[in-house]
Amino acid sequence: MSSKYETVIGLEVHTELKTKSKIFCGCTTEFGGDQNTHVCPVCLGLPGAMPVLNKKVVEFAIKVGLALNCDILHFNKFDRKNYYYPDLPKNYQTSQYDLPICLNGHLDIEVNGETKRIGITRIHMEEDAGKLVHSGNTISDSNSSNVDYNRTGVPLLEIVSEPDIRSGAEAKAYVEKLRSILQYLEVSDGRMEEGSLRCDCNVSVRLRGTTEFGTRTETKNVNSLTGIQKAIEYEALRQAKLIEAGGKVDQETRTWDDAQGITLGMRKKDEENDYRYFPEPDLVPIVITDEEIEAARNALPELQDAKIARFVSEYDLSREDATILTVAKVTANYLDEAVNAGADPKTVSNWMLGDLSKMINENNLTFAQSKVSPENLAGMIALIEKGTISGKIAKKVIVSMWETGKDADTIVKEEGLVQITDTGAIEEIVKQVIANNPQPVEDFKGGNGKAIGFLVGQVMKESKGRANPGLVNELLQKFLKD
Ligand SMILES: [Zn+2]
Repeated sequence: MSSKYETVIGLEVHTELKTKSKIFCGCTTEFGGDQNTHVCPVCLGLPGAMPVLNKKVVEFAIKVGLALNCDILHFNKFDRKNYYYPDLPKNYQTSQYDLPICLNGHLDIEVNGETKRIGITRIHMEEDAGKLVHSGNTISDSNSSNVDYNRTGVPLLEIVSEPDIRSGAEAKAYVEKLRSILQYLEVSDGRMEEGSLRCDCNVSVRLRGTTEFGTRTETKNVNSLTGIQKAIEYEALRQAKLIEAGGKVDQETRTWDDAQGITLGMRKKDEENDYRYFPEPDLVPIVITDEEIEAARNALPELQDAKIARFVSEYDLSREDATILTVAKVTANYLDEAVNAGADPKTVSNWMLGDLSKMINENNLTFAQSKVSPENLAGMIALIEKGTISGKIAKKVIVSMWETGKDADTIVKEEGLVQITDTGAIEEIVKQVIANNPQPVEDFKGGNGKAIGFLVGQVMKESKGRANPGLVNELLQKFLKD
C-alpha cells in the first residue's frame, strides 16, 4: 500500500520564546511556579487592562525569519482570533492573521544523504494560552478542572511549512533541524517534553502520480521527534486503508496517543469555529525598517549548515562527524574551544565522539556542562603528542580528569602515569617476555609476522600500559632477530 499512495505532510510548529517577560505584560515566562502566581490584569484579560508589546518578541521573530530565509514584512500587525475556552481568559487569542511578520522562507533538510528543500509558508507571533489541570487523568474521567494562567501570554512563534514533506522521517528531520536553529539563535530552548516546542501534523494521502491533494487530518500537539514520525506513519496508513476499503477520510482534528501508538479523532473540522479574525485595536501595527533587518542579519550567529561546512573544510572532519558535532551549538563550541587551545581537530573530534560522549551521556549532561573542559582535553592531547602518555593511558587519565576536574598534567604526575621511554627499562621487560613466550617467538621467526602483536601486548601489560609502544616494537624486532 505504501508504494501505491503518497503521503503529503505540512507541519505547524509552535515554539515558546525564551524572553524574560510575557508578550504583552511584565509577568515572568518562567516554567513552573505555583499555579496562577505569574499573572497580572493584562494576561488575565481583566477589563480595561492594556497590552504593551514586548520588543524582544519582534527581535526574536526577525532572527528566526532570517535564519529560515523568509521575507520580513515591513508592516505587520496583530489580530484577534476569537473563540471560547476556559484556558483563554480574554476569549480571544492575540495572534497575526493576514499580515504576519514573516513569509516565504525555506529550510533544507537531509534525509538518506539527500538534501531536500521544505518551503516555509509563514511565521507569526502570538500568545500562548493557559493550562487546564484536570482532577482525573484525562478530561473525560474528571469531575472538575482547575485552570493555571501562568502560561497565558507567554510568547509563541508559529512556523507553518508548505505541504512539501513526504514521509515521517522527513518530518522528523525538519523539526530536528528547526529545533537546532531555534537553539542556535538562543530564542527557544526547544524542549519538546516540557511543551516549549509542539507540532501539529497535517497529513493526507493521494494516489502516487496524482497532483490533487487528498482530504487532510490535523494531529495536534505531538511533543517528541519520534512521536511526530510515528504519528504521521500511523495516520498515512490509516487513511490509505480507509480509502482502499472504499471509505472516505474525514477532515478532522486528531490527537496522538503515544502509549498506544495510534491517532484518535477529536472533532470534525466543520464543527470548528469561524474565528472572526479582526485587527487588534489595542496594539499599533509593527513597522520594521530595512536598517533593522540588516542589523539583525549581520548579528546572526554561524548556524549548523555553515558550521558543518567549516568543520569539513578547515578541520578536515567527515561530513557525518561534523553533522553530529554541530546538532547542538554547545557541542560545536566545545570543539572550537579545544582547537583554539592548540589541539588537532580530528583528535579532539575522536575524543568527543568516543570517551567524552559516553561520560556526558551517562551523566545526562551536555558538552557545555562537561567536567573535562575543552582546555583540559587539549592539554591531555598535547601529552599524548609529546609522548608523555600513551593513548591507552589517556583513556584512564580522562576518567580521572572527569572525576576530579584536574588537568591532565597534574593527574599524570600524581598517579605516576608517565610513559616509560627509557630504553633500558623497556629492554628488561622485552627480554623477559621473549623468554617467557617461546611459542610466539618461534612463530615469528618462522615467518608469522602477526605473532609480534601478541608480544607487544605482553610487554604493554607488564609495563601497565606505560611503555612507549613504538619503542617496544622497535626493541622486540631487534631482539627477535638475534
Ligand atoms: Zn501578566
